[in-house]
Amino acid sequence: MITFGPLTSRRLGYSLGVNHIPAKYCSYDCIYCQVGPTKPLTIKRQIFYDTQTIQTEIEQKLLEVKQQGKTVDAITFVPDGEPCLDQKLGEHLQALKPLGIKLAVITNATFLMFPEVREALFSADWVSVKVDSVNERIWHKINRPYGRLNMEHVLDGITAFSKEFLGDLVTETMLVQEINDDGQMLKQTAKFISSLKVKCAYISVPNRPPMEAWVHPPDAKRLTAAYHVFRKKIDSVEILGLVEPKPFVGSSGIREVLLSTAAVHPLDQQTVQSMLDEAGVGWDVVDRLLSDGDLKKAVYMNNVFFLTNLTKRR
Ligand code: SF4
Repeated sequence: MITFGPLTSRRLGYSLGVNHIPAKYCSYDCIYCQVGPTKPLTIKRQIFYDTQTIQTEIEQKLLEVKQQGKTVDAITFVPDGEPCLDQKLGEHLQALKPLGIKLAVITNATFLMFPEVREALFSADWVSVKVDSVNERIWHKINRPYGRLNMEHVLDGITAFSKEFLGDLVTETMLVQEINDDGQMLKQTAKFISSLKVKCAYISVPNRPPMEAWVHPPDAKRLTAAYHVFRKKIDSVEILGLVEPKPFVGSSGIREVLLSTAAVHPLDQQTVQSMLDEAGVGWDVVDRLLSDGDLKKAVYMNNVFFLTNLTKRR
């Protein structure tokens, strides 16, 4: 399945996810990534799915959601990889425009240095760009970019996009304890974000099993301090909530819904329980996915999470 959810998101409302990149093509290999190791680490833009396939699946899902008396607020391109690696992203967005639903893209921003990528994103209504650090050493440490990428070029691309884009631009900064949560460093990050035309600067923390087990969120004191550093320079700042959204189960089959959702959003035990309840099935479905190797279990901060085994889906 290319779509997952919809899930309720604080930023976008009831949002239908689009996973249009095979796991896990990305130009970064972030230490906190919740969907596992990047493979391949690449900057080669490619064609993955044709627009018609994506459009048909989205329209079917929208119909299914409507039949259950619900309305989707946004269609969000948030794959288990970097969405701008898809050469057809602009075409997909344009094809979906007539639906009249907000189109959102969550990108790591590495491709915004290319005018054709910025132009492709002009068809979106809302774009979130990753700005974890503007310190080159820390950028390498936290985002582990593809070798030939240059941080200044990435930041210049974000600046250019901010000047040209007419929709809502937001930033997302993931704070990792003792990596990018130092006050001085945060001031530099906030200074860069304040130079952009952003609707909101979001701060997030790792709350699902990260790529590297030693990654931890900053403590509450540091997080509050980070918020205030940002607020001094940026008008609108929000810390993203830690509340786990409950995905729409629908009629696609609980097995596929669990796998397509956990490929992008690892699910905690409580969320899985509520999905099983909605589908009217028991934990034997999950046990079978685990024993077949389709699903994996991980523990992070004393919580059990279920993740799709992406190596099996490649
Ligand atoms: S967090 Fe996003 S940008 Fe970073 S490696 Fe994972 S998919 Fe790529």
